[in-house]
Amino acid sequence: MGLFSSKPDMKKGDMVYAWTADQEIAKKAECGGAVTTLLKYALEHKMVDAVLVVKRGSDVYDAVPTLVTDPKDLKDTAGSLHCGTVLMANVLQKRLKGAKNMKIGMTVKGCDLMALAELAKRKEVNRDNLFLVGVNCGGTVSPIMARYMIKEKYGVDPDLVHKEEIDKGQFIIEYEGGHKGISIDELEDEGFGRRSNCRRCLYKVPRQADLACGNWGVIGDKAGKATFVEVCSDKGADLLSRAVKAGVLHSEAPVPKGIEMRQKVEGAMLKLGEKWRKKDFAKLGKDPWGMINKETSRCIKCYSCIENCPVCFPLAGAELKKSYAIAPGQVPPNPMFHLRRLSHISDSCVNCGQCEELCPMEISLALFSHAIRAEADIAFAPKLGKSDYSN
Ligand SMILES: Cc1cc2nc3c(=O)[nH]c(=O)nc-3n(C[C@H](O)[C@H](O)[C@H](O)COP(=O)(O)OP(=O)(O)OC[C@H]3O[C@@H](n4cnc5c(N)ncnc54)[C@H](O)[C@@H]3O)c2cc1C
Repeated sequence: MGLFSSKPDMKKGDMVYAWTADQEIAKKAECGGAVTTLLKYALEHKMVDAVLVVKRGSDVYDAVPTLVTDPKDLKDTAGSLHCGTVLMANVLQKRLKGAKNMKIGMTVKGCDLMALAELAKRKEVNRDNLFLVGVNCGGTVSPIMARYMIKEKYGVDPDLVHKEEIDKGQFIIEYEGGHKGISIDELEDEGFGRRSNCRRCLYKVPRQADLACGNWGVIGDKAGKATFVEVCSDKGADLLSRAVKAGVLHSEAPVPKGIEMRQKVEGAMLKLGEKWRKKDFAKLGKDPWGMINKETSRCIKCYSCIENCPVCFPLAGAELKKSYAIAPGQVPPNPMFHLRRLSHISDSCVNCGQCEELCPMEISLALFSHAIRAEADIAFAPKLGKSDYSN
């Protein structure tokens, strides 16, 4: 069967509330279970060969990337893990070697989409073979920060937490003995909360995916029970139409007030992102290279920032190790190590934060490349469409 049926009932730009007819998925899903149901339908009907998603590992802080080929295993992958900082685009390109000859369905956040676009330009992945179900993303909390914050700020043993969620601007935990929510603004004012790259992110609704799914805008009796789905491509329209026609997914028109609210929340989140950019970039101050040199003097040259960067290819691994510009055996490395890396990646940095997240010396690497990229975006903004400017 081809990727498209003849005439989808839905079209790009349509929006619906959708919820699953599958009781097992409904039990585990974050909202209406539309994401898991759509991916399951695509796999069952051979629209894709496999589905790349995450599932909960040993606890709520542990998001494990998983390639699913048996549709019945998808129920275990429903639900949102806000402490899951894995870049799905990296899993596809690095662990699955791009899987260019397979049709893959994937759940993606904004950073995954931006990274996939860069990877497609470099012919590392085949965008035509990807079915992308996007999830709105207000940001992730690193697992280490989450544990620390829950202990220090919530006064709860992080090992007792069995569920976390982000709702109405609060990070909420459920644990043995109760539940507690604290506003993200309060957490972030005190140095807790989302990863710094997520705070600066301006890509909240993933409209470059085939479908953009989220909870913003679901109000009334469907609040918490349905997924808000926006159709972003013909492929997405086709899958949604088929799943609804087959009766595996229920749908209804969204409440107009809900559409308005979704737009407002998105706008407020973008403003917040701009505020964080201003605040973070100001840290570079009058002497950015001085700050970069000072910070990177802690570097132990483990190469993690290079190996986990979705846009750093020619320099990855062995290539950089034998570079004429990098003296072997020198720790911390000569500033050339980082300057070369920055000059190589910064015009395509997607602000995924993997360099910083996985740096054992906690150097604010994402800040540097993102500041350079954002500056270039501002310079070119009048020539770009809004979506190209989204990171
Ligand atoms: C980190 C994060 C932040 C989010 N923030 C917002 C927000 O601010 N506003 C909003 O409207 N919606 C947000 N969402 C989306 C929302 O939580 C639901 O995922 C969406 O509404 C779909 O609901 P569902 O019941 O259809 O999904 P489900 O059927 O429960 O499927 C969820 C899918 O998400 C995947 N997933 C879970 N955690 C991750 C992760 N960390 N990285 C990648 N994939 C993951 C699962 O594997 C599964 O495929 C966020 C999601 C995530 C993962």
